[in-house]
Amino acid sequence: MNNLQPIAFDGIEIDKPIIIAGPCSAETEEQVLSTARELASYGIKIYRAGIWKPRTKPGGFEGVGEVGLEWLKKVKEETGMKVSTEVANRAHVEAALAAGVDMLWIGARTSANPFAMQEIADAIGEISPDTPVLVKNPVNPDLELWIGALERLHNAGVTHLGAIHRGFTAYGKHLYRNMPQWHIPAELRRRIPNLPIIIDPSHIGGKRELVAPLAQQAFDMGFDGLIVESHCNPDCAWSDKTQQVSPDVLNFILNTISLRNDKCTTENITLLRQEIDRLDNDLLEVLNKRMRVCREIGQYKKEHNMQVLQTGRFDSIIQSRVKLANEMGMSTEFMRTVLMAIHEESVRQQLEIFNKR
Ligand code: PEP
Ligand code: MN
Repeated sequence: MNNLQPIAFDGIEIDKPIIIAGPCSAETEEQVLSTARELASYGIKIYRAGIWKPRTKPGGFEGVGEVGLEWLKKVKEETGMKVSTEVANRAHVEAALAAGVDMLWIGARTSANPFAMQEIADAIGEISPDTPVLVKNPVNPDLELWIGALERLHNAGVTHLGAIHRGFTAYGKHLYRNMPQWHIPAELRRRIPNLPIIIDPSHIGGKRELVAPLAQQAFDMGFDGLIVESHCNPDCAWSDKTQQVSPDVLNFILNTISLRNDKCTTENITLLRQEIDRLDNDLLEVLNKRMRVCREIGQYKKEHNMQVLQTGRFDSIIQSRVKLANEMGMSTEFMRTVLMAIHEESVRQQLEIFNKR
């Protein structure tokens, strides 16, 4: 995807950071317009509102449908903002583009579906290949599926593409509604360096109070902007009310977070990076030494007819190391992940010894 164009409206590239804000769903004309007026007064240039809402279960609010497009037209006329909405099939694309919607996004449930993606890509490619399209990550943490969705649009001739990181589904209760798994958008950046990637702190966090820290994290990591859910009366929103912020709160958040500058000199961090290189080498040495000891233990177990897996021992390793890691300020989840990976490799190496004649 080397001929991607930056996000632009009518040939004019938009400034970074890209900030998109607006309610989860368009509910009423009054709600759409009053939210838009407030956001415009704070300098927001791109408005979002879901017209067709993909709901996990039937019976929830499934969006107002095409009438909402009329309200978005009024937002454009009255505030001058560009407007965007989610599309999930060809009929949505046709209706949205006919109503003058300036930018489309593909939701997380749709980007996971190659049939739907192909249909949407073909429709946009035929009707308006210059319209910017942002692709949310699929609900499951599958980078190839995300890239595949982008490629379908690109192959259909859509030139102004971007990605939205909105976190990934995880089973069970967690701090986040959708786990950020930052290494996945980071890998997307490495694979397609010229693709703008913006962050959706509302759907990652699922809670109002997580919007600001997640937005800051997005900028700290050098992503290109944000799409934030903002509603004139968040507590009464018809969908996603726990994660929406009012326009004045959004304005406060945007004024408090610090933008990072990727253009300033990197001399100071060069030294720190050299230190990281040295530390990584040390880490590899230590890991290698540990594996050597594990192989010696494997040899002993084999000679004494013992089994490879000694669960009690592994449990006590996890407990003591996690406690130590916590005392040093590292998280339980991180330490567990590291120990599990090391353990898996140790077992693999010991089994190799067992299988040798
Ligand atoms: C949305 O942006 O309102 C939405 C439905 O998001 P997602 O596809 O990320 O769940
Ligand atoms: Mn939402």
